[in-house]
Amino acid sequence: MTKPTLLDLDRQHLIHPVTNFRAHEKRGATILESGSGAFLRDASGRELLDAFSGLWCVNTGYGQESIVQAATEQMRRLPYATGYFSYGSEPAIRLAARLVELAPPSLSHVYFTQGGSDAVDAAIRYIAYYYNAIGQPGRTQFISLQRGYHGSSSVGAGLTALPLFQRHFNLPLPSQHYISSPYPYRNPLGADPQALIAASVAELRAKVAQLGADTVAAFFCEPIQGSGGVIVPPKGWLKAMADACRELGILFVLDEVITGFGRTGPMFACEAEGVAPDMMTLAKGLTAGYAPMGALMMSDAIYQAIAEGAGPELAVGHGQTYSAHPVSAAIGLEVLRLYQEGGLLANGVARAPQFERGLRDLLAHPLVGDARSRGLLGALELVADKEDKRQFDPALRLHERIAQAAYENNVVFRAFGDNILGFAPALCYTEDEFSLLFTRLKATLDQVLAQPEVARAL
Ligand code: PMP
Repeated sequence: MTKPTLLDLDRQHLIHPVTNFRAHEKRGATILESGSGAFLRDASGRELLDAFSGLWCVNTGYGQESIVQAATEQMRRLPYATGYFSYGSEPAIRLAARLVELAPPSLSHVYFTQGGSDAVDAAIRYIAYYYNAIGQPGRTQFISLQRGYHGSSSVGAGLTALPLFQRHFNLPLPSQHYISSPYPYRNPLGADPQALIAASVAELRAKVAQLGADTVAAFFCEPIQGSGGVIVPPKGWLKAMADACRELGILFVLDEVITGFGRTGPMFACEAEGVAPDMMTLAKGLTAGYAPMGALMMSDAIYQAIAEGAGPELAVGHGQTYSAHPVSAAIGLEVLRLYQEGGLLANGVARAPQFERGLRDLLAHPLVGDARSRGLLGALELVADKEDKRQFDPALRLHERIAQAAYENNVVFRAFGDNILGFAPALCYTEDEFSLLFTRLKATLDQVLAQPEVARAL
């Protein structure tokens, strides 16, 4: 018997997240071997320009030696410390304090997780505890946005209003409800920002009224919807939603898992809107993907209520073995240093106009109906008809054609099923790397357009 190859072993044993199992068995894995700055190298030696920072997480770029050093030193000194029963480690404490310094002043306590899904899950659990503690156990309903993504935990995926994450998973739960996505390009009311903001606020109010004002626990949203297709709401939308939650007496939970850590310009997207969330979830750019870590930040009012609810003796029964992992925390501290003292945040802000211009220029391309971005988070939406914004027939599998052509042009980004192309280049991108991105992207779109089935669909 011949020895199985890596591709054989992968097909036989490794379950890939958010992947079609049958298509994967045919296609096989794309094995990535190394990375440096904005570039990845696959197992065949092909060098790819990564325009998606892995999965919107490697905001620093690959191969940052100082991060490797911080991790190595911490691993050598102490690879693990539990956070249970009041134990802790220096990097975790320092990272919590640093996040509180950087986050909106409304947030003063941090619970560390392994990633974004369990940060959302922790939020849901602490919210339940909070309402029981303050004597409002009837507040059990949750509202989020259509097209929102809040991870794929067994409860959190019910706030993720994307059919892929719910169908066959017995979701949403009866306690999970949605309002429309603030989607300027496809807003039935037209493109007027004020009308869209007013409609979102009105819909939230109506939903709370319908459910019963004293039954609603919280509203969850992303400042810019990421996995839902990089939906960029108008400026002022986030503040209006936060204010509405305050007036309605429900918690406002902001999911900055993608938008945090310079992705949209400032350290957190909510800074630009002066919003004070009750809770905020973080992950991805926190450790720039160099090790798993997420965080849930909460207000002092929630923290104090939970503490009072537990009383002087009872432990608050939420925890994971790897909460506040010291190696991840040491990485997080170094990553934050690179964003600030290392100049990455400033570079991201300086390069954002070139990124925005590059996307806008592609509006002239026959396939592109919309271009949108904030900071270094952006998207192109491909349509079969620019006038009526008609989508391509799903049978054309346009997104797969795009992803394939992009790979052949040595560039990777995210091609969503509804033909939205998502971009999240690392904050270390140079001017030349952005030029290269747009050269390769234009070549990709041209090649796909030249395919007879695609040209006929226009
Ligand atoms: N929230 C948002 C906004 C996300 O984009 C993601 C991941 N894409 C998550 C939560 C879940 O994070 P993770 O994949 O680290 O569990």
